[in-house]
Amino acid sequence: MTNPKNHGRVKAIVALRLLEVVRERDLPAELLEQENPARTIPRRLGLSDVIDRQIRAYKDDVRKGVHLTDQGIRDLFTLVNRRPDSDEIFSDTGREIVNVYFPFRWGQIFPESIQYMFARTYLARHMKHLFGRRIFNFAEGPLNVEVQDLFLRGSDPEDSACYLISGICHRILEQIGHTSVEVSHTLCQARGDDRCRWDGSIIPLTEE
Ligand SMILES: [Zn+2]
Repeated sequence: MTNPKNHGRVKAIVALRLLEVVRERDLPAELLEQENPARTIPRRLGLSDVIDRQIRAYKDDVRKGVHLTDQGIRDLFTLVNRRPDSDEIFSDTGREIVNVYFPFRWGQIFPESIQYMFARTYLARHMKHLFGRRIFNFAEGPLNVEVQDLFLRGSDPEDSACYLISGICHRILEQIGHTSVEVSHTLCQARGDDRCRWDGSIIPLTEE
């Protein structure tokens, strides 16, 4: 596994959280489901050993403020993309890398339009912080985001790196509103569209 350092712009926390999500999913359910644990456990543990080592290395990078190169992060994403559960892994990672602290339930205090305004502000700020650049534009609508040629995507048509952005949008909206939200990836270059687009919305709580 590559661990390219320096001169990059992507915060190492992205890679760290991604591997932590992978590790969490692989242990222990898969271990228990194996038919012949005596044979498969050592192999699994060997694999998790590699991941543990890499997680420690990324933790070091996070502490030292090391940034990863675009190619480095794409290589890591390509590895994860080979897994059948890569959509969920990227989506979970997106939710894990943003932590917006709201001291009170803004969803009960501010009207939706203000909540969306906060969401757009936090989203723009977090993306710039994590990826070292502005990577998307806001389209017309409450929380509608568009990207052309997302740099995180590889060349694989089955690429699911877009789910990372879905996860980030989801988490920010959810934390602001303290309520259910929905984020759809409505256009995707992997599906032949000319750009990628995410539509996020807060689902208002209905009074019983
Ligand atoms: Zn996409």
